[in-house]
Amino acid sequence: MVSSVRAQCRVCNQFAPAEQFRMHHAHQRMVCPNCYSNANKPQQPASPFKEERKEELKPAGWDHEDEYLERLAKARKKEAQGTFSEIPGSSKVKYSCSSCSYAFRYDPAMKSPSSCPYCGKAVTRYWQ
Ligand SMILES: [Zn+2]
Ligand SMILES: [Zn+2]
Repeated sequence: MVSSVRAQCRVCNQFAPAEQFRMHHAHQRMVCPNCYSNANKPQQPASPFKEERKEELKPAGWDHEDEYLERLAKARKKEAQGTFSEIPGSSKVKYSCSSCSYAFRYDPAMKSPSSCPYCGKAVTRYWQ
């Protein structure tokens, strides 16, 4: 049994299960299924001024909740795990913690550190 987290849609202010939120390109944010399915219909913006400003500001409205929802969407496809990226000229890699996003150097040869120094979450295997 998985209890779903309910999140508030920033577009219509309704609550919906967080895992049903999807990225809406026109809104530059995660929206509830309702808003997402309305995307193809012509919309009458409540305030034309707001619409103009939105284009200038671009993804400035991106916030932690959106990030959380996006990560949740990704987690559905793939189990949450940290990301590795090469450090040129070094045998070490940069590891970004899957739990807290803290980034630190990881030595794949020594398998060190074995867990995130910030939150203690175990480092996922280097090459899956
Ligand atoms: Zn909505
Ligand atoms: Zn961490």
